[in-house]
Parts: sequence; structure tokens; C-alpha cells
Amino acid sequence: MDIKVTTIAPENMKPKPHDESMLGFGKLVTDHFFTMKFSGERGWHDAAIEPYRPLELDPASMCLHYGQEIFEGMKAYRGKDGSIYLFRPEENIKRMRVSAERLCMPEPDSEIFMEALKKLVLLEKDWIPYGIGTSLYIRPTMIATEAALGVHPSDSYLFFIIVGPVGAYYPEGFSPTKIYVSEDYVRASLGGVGYCKAAGNYAASLYASKKASEMGYTQVLWLDAAEKKYPEEVGTSNIFFVIGDELITPPLTGSILPGITRDSVIQIARSWNLNVLQKSISMDEILKAHKEGLLKEAFASGTAAIVSPVGQFYFRDDEHIINEGKVGSLTERLYNEILQIQYGEKEDPFGWRVKIA
Ligand SMILES: *Cc1c(COP(=O)(O)O)cnc(C)c1O
Repeated sequence: MDIKVTTIAPENMKPKPHDESMLGFGKLVTDHFFTMKFSGERGWHDAAIEPYRPLELDPASMCLHYGQEIFEGMKAYRGKDGSIYLFRPEENIKRMRVSAERLCMPEPDSEIFMEALKKLVLLEKDWIPYGIGTSLYIRPTMIATEAALGVHPSDSYLFFIIVGPVGAYYPEGFSPTKIYVSEDYVRASLGGVGYCKAAGNYAASLYASKKASEMGYTQVLWLDAAEKKYPEEVGTSNIFFVIGDELITPPLTGSILPGITRDSVIQIARSWNLNVLQKSISMDEILKAHKEGLLKEAFASGTAAIVSPVGQFYFRDDEHIINEGKVGSLTERLYNEILQIQYGEKEDPFGWRVKIA
């Protein structure tokens, strides 16, 4: 299948932002987007890059009623020499296919997906900001478009990719976050869709996040749904603890989103001969380690921030400060390592970078 490209006339293009420090996250989209349709009869068809525009949807479209919708989150990076890179894009493609299967949606073809990513990013390359830490955020999405109100898997779908410039996550250096351990609300349970980037997961998380925010906390630390004992994720990121000389992250049991950054952290830490364990660890064990002075660092991992240090957590009416609220040395080292690999400033021993220009 060929991707048909229709470009916008230069005089109709949006002005590009001048001040990269004002970019923030997710506020701007570029001039073009990729779309591809699926129907039971025709399979995937009509792959196209077109001028960015609102979608026209039947109000009975199933995505609007039953949440049959999945997405991905990834970035394109500009190196100092002008090269443009993607970071492990095949992992995002794989993960979207896994999400699709679980939500009874058709799996987008891997080759077309990759070609669409490269073509769209290259077409929009002037939108990629220059500063280290800035990037072009890429949001592949798939929605169910059949107009029908019965609950069943849709017969037709729209896959699209939109992109937009985003600012550096830490323009003024790291700032450790305060997190709220939620025992009242859960994100995902075993047997559910926690391992998918399914839209409904995020709608369901808003309430607890809002409560945490009202209490002055940046993120929610989600515990396992069955026993509410074991940390699983923080906000929309994976979680790591440095306890003694071990780097610990919960195992991918099915309720945890398998972060690509999580996997990168694990592989890098192992290459440094650190002792990395994927095991469930309870809040009791964490509190005990903290009391004994063994909880040295905690951080979240995800595409948006790479790693985000946790400075304190609130659990059962108590504040617990980690590493005096400062950024841990391993957190910082991992951040710099991944950042430099992503921007082509360092060798890429794992072969994670995909140079597209
Ligand atoms: C996207 C996401 C992550 C992080 O995944 P990355 O591939 O590292 O960006 C972690 N948890 C949740 C719930 C997510 O949605």
C-alpha cells in the first residue's frame, strides 16, 4: 500500500513557534497528519498524509460510546548535527498491536506504520525544536468508527498519527515530585486492560489524580487492585526503587503498562552491572527500608520525562522524604545516558536509535 501525500500550500502553514522555552507539552500540532482506514471488507486502505483537519465522525461512532480507542506516545529528536532520530519505534508499533488485539481492533501493519512515522516526521521536520530535551511528540491513535449503538467490536476503524513540538521536560533542572499513594482508587486490575494504552485507562485515572493534585501532590502512586499493597505505577509512568544495592521495579503482571523507557532503564542498569530486579515489593517493605535508611532513590520512567525523581510520598497520613528530597545519583545518571543516546550524543550500544535524516 502506498501512502498518498497531499501537502498544504506554504502560505497556509501555521507559524512555527519561535520561543522553545514556551512549548510546553501537547499544545501544538503541525500542518499535516497521517490517516489510514480499516473496514472488514477492505482491510487497511487509503493510507494518506494530508493537511491537518478536524475529523468528521458519525455521532453513533462506537469510539464515542464504548471507548474502543488506543494510542501510543513516542518522540522524534534532533541531534546537534541536524540528524533526526526515533527511539526504539518498533517497540511502540509492537505495543500498539498488542493493545489492538486486546481491544478487538485490527492490528495496524508494522511496515506501513513505520513508513508513516518516518514520512510524516520528515515532512514536518522543520517543526522539530533544536534544544536538547525538546522533541517532536508523536501520537499514533486508533478509533472505532462504525456507526452502531450495540456493544460489539466495530467493523471499521480509523488509524491516525498527529505530531507536535514539545518543550524540555526539565528546563530548569530536575525537580523531584511529591506523590500520593492511593488506597481508595485503582488504575488497573489483573485481567483488565492495564497493559494497553487504551483510552479508558486514562479517563478512569483522572479522579484520583485530581484528588492528589488538590492535596498538593504531582502524581498518584497506584497500588495493585487486589490487595492494595504493591506499588505498580506512578501517574502514567513506571516506577523504580533503589533499595540497598538493588534497583527494583514491579514485574509486568498484566496490570502494568510495559514502558519502553522502563525496559531501556533495565537494560542500561544491567549493562552497568547493577542488580536489577523485577519483583513486587509491598508498601510495608518500602516503609521498612525507608526507616532503615536503605531506600535511597525512587523514580518514575516514561517517554515524556525519561526519568522523574520522586522526592517524597504520602501514605496513610504520613509524609516520607526520599534522599532528603534531592535527585538521586543513579536517577541522574540514567537520565543523562538515555538522553544522550536519544539525541545522538553518545554511542548507541543497544541499537535503539533509528536515524531518519
Ligand atoms: C505510556 C505509559 C508508560 C510509559 O511508557 P513509555 O513507553 O516508557 O513511554 C507507563 N505507564 C503508563 C500507564 C503509560 O501510559
